[in-house]
Amino acid sequence: MIVEQIWTGNAGRNFNYLVACAETGEALAIDPLDHEKCLAAAKARGWTITQILNTHEHRDHTGGNGPMVAATRAKLLAHANAKDRIGGVDRGLKAGDVIKVGRSVELECLDTPGHTMAHICVRARGDTPALFCGDTLFNAGAGNCHNGGHPEELYSTFATQLAKLPDATLVYPGHDYIARNLGFTLDREPDNAKAKAMLPQMEKQDPARALVTTLALEKEINTFFRLTSPSVIRRLREAFPDLPETPDPRTVFLKLRELRNKW
Ligand SMILES: [Zn+2]
Ligand SMILES: [Zn+2]
Repeated sequence: MIVEQIWTGNAGRNFNYLVACAETGEALAIDPLDHEKCLAAAKARGWTITQILNTHEHRDHTGGNGPMVAATRAKLLAHANAKDRIGGVDRGLKAGDVIKVGRSVELECLDTPGHTMAHICVRARGDTPALFCGDTLFNAGAGNCHNGGHPEELYSTFATQLAKLPDATLVYPGHDYIARNLGFTLDREPDNAKAKAMLPQMEKQDPARALVTTLALEKEINTFFRLTSPSVIRRLREAFPDLPETPDPRTVFLKLRELRNKW
C-alpha cells in the first residue's frame, strides 16, 4: 500500500489522500476536494484512480467529486446513510465492509459517528496499520460536532473503536490542525512535556511534508485520549467546580469537547 498525503493549501487546511496498490497502480482518492492536485499526483506516479471515498458528507470533503468522476469515471463510495446527502454514490458503506484497491490493498470500514452521523473511517491492517479518519480524529485533537454531529457519539467512537486500534497505527486525518490542537492540549494539561516539545516544531512545519503520527503518539499528545490524566482532571475541575474528584472518562471527554468549542 502506498499512501500519498496531499496538502491542499486551502483556508480549511484540508488533507486529501491517494491510496494505491503498488502492484497494479490502481488508486483510491479519499476526500479529493483539490481534484486538480489529486489528478496531477496520480498522473505523476502513473496511477489510475478507480474509486473515490468520501469520509462524510461535508462540502469540504465532497466538493471535488464531480470533476474527479468526470476525469476518471471512478466509483464513488460513502457511508450508506450519507447517500441522500452526497450525489452520485455508487456504493453505500457500513461497518465491516472492505474496500479493495488493486490486488494488494484492503481497507476495512469503521462506522464512526460523532462529527456527523454518517461518517466512515477506513483502516488498513498488516505490517503498517493505518487509519484514514476524516474529521473524527485529528492529530492531537477531535472533530467538532457543530454540523450534524453528537458529542456523546464521538466519545463512544473514540472509546470503543479508535482507542482500541494498534498503537502503531498511522493516523491520516482530513485537516492539518496539529499546532492549534497542541495548544489546546497544553491549555488543558500544561505539564504535558511531549506536547510542549512538539509545539514549536509543529508551528513551523510545512504541511506538504506533515508529520504522520501514530496512535501511540496520539495517546501522549491528544487530550481526547487523556481522559484519566490527573492534570487534565485537575484543570477541568477548575473550569467545572461541580465535577466529582474522579469524573468518568465520558464526562471528561464531553467537557473537553465543550471547552474546545470556545477555545
Ligand atoms: Zn466535516
Ligand atoms: Zn472537514
